[in-house]
Amino acid sequence: MKRPIVAIDGPAGAGKSTVARLVADRLGYLLLDTGALYRTVALAAKRAGIPWGDEAAVTGLTETLVRDGAIRLERGGDGALRTLLRGEDVSTLIRTQELAEGASRVSAIAGVREALLTIQRSAVSANGVVLEGRDIGTVVFPDAQAKFFLTASVEVRARRRFDELRSRGQSPELERVHEEVVERDRRDSTRPVAPLRQAPDAVLIDSSALSVEAVVDRIVERVRAIERELEQS
Ligand code: C5P
Repeated sequence: MKRPIVAIDGPAGAGKSTVARLVADRLGYLLLDTGALYRTVALAAKRAGIPWGDEAAVTGLTETLVRDGAIRLERGGDGALRTLLRGEDVSTLIRTQELAEGASRVSAIAGVREALLTIQRSAVSANGVVLEGRDIGTVVFPDAQAKFFLTASVEVRARRRFDELRSRGQSPELERVHEEVVERDRRDSTRPVAPLRQAPDAVLIDSSALSVEAVVDRIVERVRAIERELEQS
């Protein structure tokens, strides 16, 4: 069967991770969480004592990591996707507000984005993949056949981030999470390289008042229709 590339872009807290995982499971597609790559670069820079704003040093570090195959995304025994940094499972470590902020900072650097393009594109040799990020439909795979832009109101997104952090055992303040979401939106949408933007051919889904299941159903239905079209072409 011919299977499309599914691009799910959108701002922080729109529900992309949850939705992308369920969509990939339902369709039997591979899942690639591209935010994890930026978070891992932020972690590696922090460990190396490199400030996130030092563009040349962060770019050099990212190029080295990519060249050495030191950042990998793979499925663990339990089926969940793990992020490895030089063989160490950093999947949980990178899910903090601090590294979300770091990811947002390093992702504004052109050299970092360029270096991570290779990993994202080469992961897609497989037939049928769901990629979740900010610029999948606009930059990484502008020819993807199935594009979605998932969003929700700032209040709803801040609340979701807050609940997610708490479920991970952290104790954030809602007001602070709200401020961080607003700031991350601003930085992600105004950066000169690959800003967060809806691709003209992406289907817009506002999940503010929709259940996760409703969003997943809508995406799966559309992808199945595209699968049928590809089959006939
Ligand atoms: O999706 P997640 O919260 O893990 O992303 C962390 C940060 O990484 C985002 O705020 C964004 O700045 C950056 N990012 C990006 N391009 C992507 C994925 C994430 O710039 N494709």
